[in-house]
Amino acid sequence: MKTKPLFIILSAPSGAGKSTLVDLILQEYPDIGYSVSCTTREPRIGEEDGIDYHFLSRERFKTLLAENAFLEHAEVHGNYYGTLKAPIEEILEEGNSVILDIDVAGAAKVRSYVASLPSDAPMRAGYMDVFIMPPSMEELRARLEKRGTDAQETIEKRLKNADGEMARAGEYMYRIVNDELDTAYRRLCDLIDVRSGRM
Ligand code: 5GP
Repeated sequence: MKTKPLFIILSAPSGAGKSTLVDLILQEYPDIGYSVSCTTREPRIGEEDGIDYHFLSRERFKTLLAENAFLEHAEVHGNYYGTLKAPIEEILEEGNSVILDIDVAGAAKVRSYVASLPSDAPMRAGYMDVFIMPPSMEELRARLEKRGTDAQETIEKRLKNADGEMARAGEYMYRIVNDELDTAYRRLCDLIDVRSGRM
């Protein structure tokens, strides 16, 4: 079935379950590609360069920035993150969809960039953004602690950041509370299916 290529942005506070949802989507939809972001932060255990992120030095990041290679970039938790423009344009031009996992500041920048494009531009025509909410701040703390990948200090930083991010959930076209993973996932699939014309 020929479907409309989507340009999907997903944001959530760290620990809200966004990465799990993205992994499930990528498994279920072979025509959706993942936009691998660039970052200057250290890889976590199990993360691979070129798959989870392009792990770059600050110098390399700054060079790409000067070359205007990023669709958007932001400083999050003291590190730089950025989305490369070219791979996204290529995926959409091929008729496939792309999913971005970026923070609220990055999403706001992409949203205003997209709004400046002609209405038939693939990035604008297929645009949708979704905010994944944790059921509560207590639950978010519990999930971050259980994950065990971050130092306590990092967890506190992420929780503080989460407050600010939650306050901007209203900027998104759609919001999904990730209380029960299966339910949140089905809701996300429904949105994708409707927007891409699968149903
Ligand atoms: P983490 O270090 O936990 O992988 O990501 C930290 C935050 O950075 C998350 O909120 C994530 O969405 C955001 N992030 C990841 N990639 C990008 C990007 O390319 N641009 C922006 N603006 N934020 C990003």
